[in-house]
Amino acid sequence: MTTDNSGDVRLSGIGKTYGAFTAVHPLDLTVPQGSFFALLGASGCGKTTTLRMIAGLEEPTSGTVHLGDQDVTHLPPYKRPVNTVFQSYALFPHLDIFENVAFGLRRRGLKSVKKQVEDMLDLVQLGEQARKKPHQLSGGQQQRVAVARALINHPKVLLLDEPLGALDLKLRRQMQLELKRIQTEVGITFIHVTHDQEEAMTMADTVAVMNGGRVEQLGAPTDLYENPRTTFVANFLGTSNLIEAEVDTKSGDDIVLKAAGDKLVLPAARCGAPAPAGGKVLVGIRPEKIALAHADDAGGIPEGRNRLTGKIADASFIGVSTQYVIDSPACAELSVYVQNVERDARLVPGADVVLHWSPAHTFGLDAAQA
Ligand code: ATP
Repeated sequence: MTTDNSGDVRLSGIGKTYGAFTAVHPLDLTVPQGSFFALLGASGCGKTTTLRMIAGLEEPTSGTVHLGDQDVTHLPPYKRPVNTVFQSYALFPHLDIFENVAFGLRRRGLKSVKKQVEDMLDLVQLGEQARKKPHQLSGGQQQRVAVARALINHPKVLLLDEPLGALDLKLRRQMQLELKRIQTEVGITFIHVTHDQEEAMTMADTVAVMNGGRVEQLGAPTDLYENPRTTFVANFLGTSNLIEAEVDTKSGDDIVLKAAGDKLVLPAARCGAPAPAGGKVLVGIRPEKIALAHADDAGGIPEGRNRLTGKIADASFIGVSTQYVIDSPACAELSVYVQNVERDARLVPGADVVLHWSPAHTFGLDAAQA
């Protein structure tokens, strides 16, 4: 049995400098055929440059780009089996939707395009809009036309450069699900650039978090969220509490740490930092993983939980949950999110509390990075 790998994207040592400035440090990355892959990072981190090197719109300073078994490093964009959707949809305003989508087929000299264009418009759920002009469509519909136009020539890889950046939040969320559906249906490789962590986590099978021209961590969204390996990733993907603690002892598979007067347990397998006795580690815990007990109820907290004492500094009711800010001797301004079905009316600013959570949800980072 042969497997089709023509949509695999393999970057080997690919890098880009502009004069003395390095936009992308040489990086290795493999995106498997048929996956939805996101390049995620803040403005200026090099994600668009990386995408443009895959498209052939930017000449790399070093390294190679392979699509399947083919080295495309020196091929012009139009000779690569790749297409790109940009934030600015760049539709032809004087052509109707049908002709916008048909454009790529007609340019290749194809005469009978009707069936292919209609199928593509059905895929993006715009079959009814075929004879409208772009300005008669909403932003989300125009973006779907741009996707249909990019897919009509059956590229092996679709590159998406902040394609939802111009849409308002509600439409953006709808289009994320829509793009995911389209990708599942066509089954080709999608590489999506975004600075929006929620967008990357919603859509992608694999996310590469970029920072300063480097891939800082690569993994499935849940893996990145549960096991961030750097403070940048821990803070870029959601909110993290990072508590500086000192390694006390190691006991079996656990590291025991001291944080002010409290003792914390960190599974060694979840610690990405050197942890000699006396060394410093940042202990990470997500706000929604922490439970909050009034100090009077501390005796009822089950054995084996990590605990920190503290005082509520602020509480914001936000519908389904309440977000607390807690000052603890171990760490100022800890965030804790508690579902309101479990809300205790005594948990108001000024109340003494005990924060507690399972050691299994704890992760450890190198304190020297912070
Ligand atoms: P954004 O989300 O703002 O587009 P990005 O992560 O996609 O950011 P890039 O567009 O890849 O970032 O740019 C990476 C860095 O390279 C930036 O600091 C940018 O200023 C720089 N850069 C990009 N293109 C050029 C160029 N043609 N000449 C010089 N510097 C450039």
